[in-house]
Amino acid sequence: MPTLPAINAFVRIMTLVVDVDVAIVGSGFSGALCALALRKRGRNVALLERGRHPRFAIGESTTPLTNLLLEELADRYDLPQVRSFSKWGTWQRTRPDVACGLKRGFTFLFHRLAEGFTDDATHARQLLVAASPHDDVADTHWYRAAFDLALVEQAQAAGATYLDELRLEKVGDTGSGMAMEGVRGGERVEIQADFVIDASGPRGFLANALGMGSAPLRWLPATQGVFSHFENVGLWQDVAPPDANPPYPPDAAALHHVFPGGWIWVLRFNNGITSAGAALTDRVAAMVGAADGGPGWDRLLQSLPSVQEQFRDARPTMPFVYSPGVAFRCHQVVGERWALLPSAAGVIDPLLSTGFPLTLLGVARLLEVLETTAPGAERRIALDEYARTTQTELDVTEQLVAALYACMDDPPLFKRLALMYFAAASYSEAVRRLDRAHLAPGFLLNAHPRFGVEIRECAGLAAKVPTGEPRAALFSRIDRAIEPFDTAGLLDFSRRDWYPMRASDLIAGAPKLDASVSEVNRLLERCGLVV
Ligand SMILES: Cc1cc2nc3c(=O)[nH]c(=O)nc-3n(C[C@H](O)[C@H](O)[C@H](O)COP(=O)(O)OP(=O)(O)OC[C@H]3O[C@@H](n4cnc5c(N)ncnc54)[C@H](O)[C@@H]3O)c2cc1C
Repeated sequence: MPTLPAINAFVRIMTLVVDVDVAIVGSGFSGALCALALRKRGRNVALLERGRHPRFAIGESTTPLTNLLLEELADRYDLPQVRSFSKWGTWQRTRPDVACGLKRGFTFLFHRLAEGFTDDATHARQLLVAASPHDDVADTHWYRAAFDLALVEQAQAAGATYLDELRLEKVGDTGSGMAMEGVRGGERVEIQADFVIDASGPRGFLANALGMGSAPLRWLPATQGVFSHFENVGLWQDVAPPDANPPYPPDAAALHHVFPGGWIWVLRFNNGITSAGAALTDRVAAMVGAADGGPGWDRLLQSLPSVQEQFRDARPTMPFVYSPGVAFRCHQVVGERWALLPSAAGVIDPLLSTGFPLTLLGVARLLEVLETTAPGAERRIALDEYARTTQTELDVTEQLVAALYACMDDPPLFKRLALMYFAAASYSEAVRRLDRAHLAPGFLLNAHPRFGVEIRECAGLAAKVPTGEPRAALFSRIDRAIEPFDTAGLLDFSRRDWYPMRASDLIAGAPKLDASVSEVNRLLERCGLVV
């Protein structure tokens, strides 16, 4: 019979003890980026992953703001290999081994159930908004299996301790730090850290371990998701050839098939794989039986004949994923020695690809808190501010997307309201690139004294899908709200809802950007935006 000290010694031998400054739970792109940045500041970091790379992850489509934020992070922390992922051209030149997709813009197509897609000369049932003037500086869709792996490899090379296939079981505040315990390959793991960043996504580690539960949605209807990766997905331009030269090839985009009660995304990668899936209100999800996965998807396509045509030869390359609740909100975002990234604190519907920019804004803010404050009162104040901003940005996104859901059966209203998103996003990008970020405070300008109020109020009004005089008043109000920030020709309705990216729009918008024409010209030159 072994003695008690002998058993303790045995248990000790079988325990891996990790003592770091910061432990990051979750090694998606956000966790890996945090690890990379913290290593650059000399912090000891552990990156803790439940699964194993390469692995499937949903959330793939970037935007100009996403890529600008990635660029800013890369510059701030001297991460040139990360920077090259911020544009299609540099990505293809430096990391052609990492799959991705070419995204030149946002394509919205408005369908009627059980009818083939048709449109008229005014493009009444479509909206195309270019995000870049040519491929080299274009955005991308991240093929997450490859992209996240590449970032994790970079984090490891930078000296982060990476533990995958780790089942974390406990977390607690010891009074001077955080202690976590888990199991990895039969071995016990103890992790001590001064601070824990939760990058484990929605309904993630801390939300469960601390029993935080989820907060109710205030504006969005409950939605369900069903999605997969496919091969042999047809081109939309073959199903519905454009009537003239569109601002970019409509398939080199985040393609949105919108219909009453939901929408389908189609994102093409350069490795023959296409990501596609649907977000559906509970009513539509029940109607098609989305919970059945593949058969539910097939039934949905039967009600959308033109989309069905696009998927005629498509074959899923992995089992369908069914998500009974796409959106998620959390009550609490920070504690004394921990913080959730925005992607762990909430997921709003992916309709406007808002997940990445919200997350990257949060990553930059949280890193700044950790860099500039010492544990104690000052850090608590900074963390509270981080939490407040995170919740406010999730709120405004939820309000806007909820209103768009209400208008899915009303393309003119949907499109007009969506212009508020495009105005805010393009203006924010331009002023950030001109070193005038203060002109566009908060995601979607939500902290701007005028635009912030207008976007919330217009979303609230649009959610009621007004008719008659209130509808006309709402359209005018949206136009008035957009005008001071429109540097993309969004209010030029002669463009028939096809918006190319034109240098001349940005130049004409120089006064709105508080910049001179020559500054805007230099910006266009520097960023390769002149065709
Ligand atoms: C259907 C859908 C589509 C979306 N599409 C878009 C889009 O097109 N564009 C966009 O900008 N955003 C999109 N989003 C949002 C986007 O998915 C997220 O913003 C993004 O994935 C967040 O990345 P992340 O690295 O923070 O977390 P995740 O990608 O969620 O990664 C979390 C990691 O943590 C690990 N993990 C989880 N639990 C634990 C644990 N207990 N212990 C250790 N590790 C753990 C997981 O295995 C995973 O590797 C979409 C969201 C959904 C639901």
